Amino acid sequence: MAAEAVPPHESRGGVSITWPVVGHQRVINAACSDAENVDVDAKAPLARCGYCPLRDRPFVAGYGPPMTNRVIVGQAPGQREVVEGKPFVGQSGGRLNEALSAAGVDRLAVYITNTVLCHPEGNDEPPPEAVEACHERLITEIRLRMPKKVLALGTTAATALTNDTRPIEKLRLLRPTPSPHLDDKSEVRVTYHPSALTRNPEWPGRFDGDVEWLGEP
Ligand code: SF4
Repeated sequence: MAAEAVPPHESRGGVSITWPVVGHQRVINAACSDAENVDVDAKAPLARCGYCPLRDRPFVAGYGPPMTNRVIVGQAPGQREVVEGKPFVGQSGGRLNEALSAAGVDRLAVYITNTVLCHPEGNDEPPPEAVEACHERLITEIRLRMPKKVLALGTTAATALTNDTRPIEKLRLLRPTPSPHLDDKSEVRVTYHPSALTRNPEWPGRFDGDVEWLGEP
């Protein structure tokens, strides 16, 4: 197997960032509004991009404070996210914002990321090889923020965090939903992805109720 290329360095706001793949289309994580306080390690994905089928697709990093009590994990960035360079800014993001607002949660206080950081063509589900290649990055990104609450949106995120392949209807009733990847200081819960809410008239209300948990102390 050929040796992987030496990672390139980029810098923004005086912060040097190491990225794992040369030539990968990247949108630099301008995530944390206060670059002085950015945790450099948290911005260096431990993704194994060289092995990932999405390695040539547009990249959108997680967005939010370096340390926070609340983390939300979605599936993958969509087209609108690619344009804006931030996760959950499209239609699903709008629906998530509504629920967060109703729950009294300041979105800017929440760290939001995705199970895979690159946009799958046609908004398809990310292939399992991509989920696997991006998994260590996902878990490290969450752990570094030391959140009390982690909410997984949709099946891809739920399975990545829990290793449990049962349907969301079952997993969302486990409170907490056990995760072999995070310690018990971080409680994991699971709910529907906002893009799926139109599939069942009961899901929007359940989704709002699940997001309310983030607003509880
Ligand atoms: S999805 Fe993750 S592992 Fe795959 S290329 Fe993008 S950052 Fe790398």
